[in-house]
Amino acid sequence: MASVLIALGGNVGDVRATFTKAIANICGMTQAALTARSSDYRTPPWGDEQQEPFINACIEIETGLDPHALLFTLHKIEKKFGRDRAQERHWGPRTLDLDILAYDDVQLNKPELTLPHPRLFERAFVLVPLAEIVPDRLIAGQTPHQALARLSADGIERLPDLQ
Ligand code: ATP
Ligand code: CA
Ligand code: CA
Repeated sequence: MASVLIALGGNVGDVRATFTKAIANICGMTQAALTARSSDYRTPPWGDEQQEPFINACIEIETGLDPHALLFTLHKIEKKFGRDRAQERHWGPRTLDLDILAYDDVQLNKPELTLPHPRLFERAFVLVPLAEIVPDRLIAGQTPHQALARLSADGIERLPDLQ
């Protein structure tokens, strides 16, 4: 089994409800166990600022799927929850984005799958939820806690748990 970190994001529809259902789908469709789930955070849009704020969260799972099979399954789940890549702009509005942040200590450098995620350490909206669940995990030589110390987390707001 591999220990995998996944980032969830979205800013269209009832994103928090989508996350709850998507996490159940991830565990069901990848035969994975959920070992940690961060809080949900409201975050300012990144890359393309002319859009609604995002909701972001991170999870840790244990899965037997290999990295490519996992990515394939995550893309299916994005689609199931309304993601339509053909209609969207780069870093624009979307119902659900599922990125693999890290898969054990695997390093991959292909366009279709880069591990760890290449922009992970530039993004407070990923590192804030990640540091909540795995502050001290070494990812490519640094920890979420260390990486976050170099960034501003201005505008990132932890949301109260859903009842
Ligand atoms: P970013 O990758 O900067 O967060 P994005 O999530 O908006 O941007 P997408 O349009 O969702 O980008 O994905 C573009 C492609 O990135 C996907 O088709 C996928 O094959 C590829 N990709 C490469 N590495 C990863 C990874 N670690 N996790 C998810 N997708 C990846
Ligand atoms: Ca992304
Ligand atoms: Ca993505």
